[in-house]
Amino acid sequence: MTDKVLVYDLDLDQLIGLFGEWDEPKYRAAQIWHDLYKQLQNDPLDFSTLPKGLRNRLVRNVLFRSLSKEAESISRDHQTQKVLFNTKSGYKIETVLMQYERRRTLCISTQSGCGIGCVFCATGQMGFQQNLSSGEIIEQVIYFARQLADHDDRLTNIVVMGMGEPFQNYDATMAAMDTLNHPEGFNFGARRITISTVGLTPMIERFTKEKRQINLAVSLHAATNDLRDELVPINRQYPLENLIEVCQEYVSHTGRRITFEWAMIEGVNDDLAQAHSLADRIENFLCHVNLIPLNPTQGFLESASSMSKVTSFQNYLHSRGISCTTRTRRGIEIDAGCGQLATK
Ligand code: SAH
Ligand code: SF4
Repeated sequence: MTDKVLVYDLDLDQLIGLFGEWDEPKYRAAQIWHDLYKQLQNDPLDFSTLPKGLRNRLVRNVLFRSLSKEAESISRDHQTQKVLFNTKSGYKIETVLMQYERRRTLCISTQSGCGIGCVFCATGQMGFQQNLSSGEIIEQVIYFARQLADHDDRLTNIVVMGMGEPFQNYDATMAAMDTLNHPEGFNFGARRITISTVGLTPMIERFTKEKRQINLAVSLHAATNDLRDELVPINRQYPLENLIEVCQEYVSHTGRRITFEWAMIEGVNDDLAQAHSLADRIENFLCHVNLIPLNPTQGFLESASSMSKVTSFQNYLHSRGISCTTRTRRGIEIDAGCGQLATK
């Protein structure tokens, strides 16, 4: 354990504040941000714009790397790479890079484990371990950005769909998004970031008010309360009526489309009755439904819906005028599907 501050935990004002305490000029903070987020360097001894004395002071007082890689797996087609990191306080998280055609999509974690307990989710099955700091969330992105930069390549999309419920670690998640989006920071377009929440309605309301340009996805999985109570236990606290209402408000206040995620589970939530209830709830506002055939996990015995079930579900939604696509299962053999992230 170390009590040095992690550099990625500091926003620009905090970094300026630190340099104020050190009697250093303000512009040093911008120089360091440039080295960190544009040059993707993480050893202050390489920060050539800084005087040597300051570089040494940074080494002594500030942490530039908190995540250590413990294991890595790469899918046979080389398109999916999953890295297991240890945080500095010894918790495990996973981050997944997916490279398909021109897309370079990074799936990042916001917590180690998750306390929500969705029955089909491997992260849920391991329980809550710890919230990540904003810096630990950012560092996952910088780690992969640096790896891609080594091949003259860069990230195109970030999805906050790894381990954890981002809206249960709201402040750290948003601080991370703000630095990643900041023009002097990583300068990554908010429109290319998607945050997925299980549906904590008070936090969706807060997110709506804050008017960020980030895309929002909500994990629905069922359109009747009886079934959603079973699959997504937090539904007992924030039932569907309440959830759909705040989603609708999000769309009307921001003018942005919302995505609903739906893991297709054979014989559980893939029948036309569910599709019908779903359409009744969402047909009046700007939204998109993403069907994801269930990724098998050890703690949940059900299986993925057949392709024909998925297609009829999708066709039904189309017939009701609802935009809907099916996400194919990527990286399945290395357990790198969303919701499969769990340390073994
Ligand atoms: N906690 C957030 C984000 C992480 S999970 C949330 O729940 O939205 C990312 C997505 O993967 C969610 O839609 C989640 O429901 C889904 N998911 C979890 N386990 C899955 C599984 N075994 N198969 C398919 N999707 C799963
Ligand atoms: Fe947590 Fe999301 Fe998994 Fe549910 S699906 S247990 S909210 S990570």
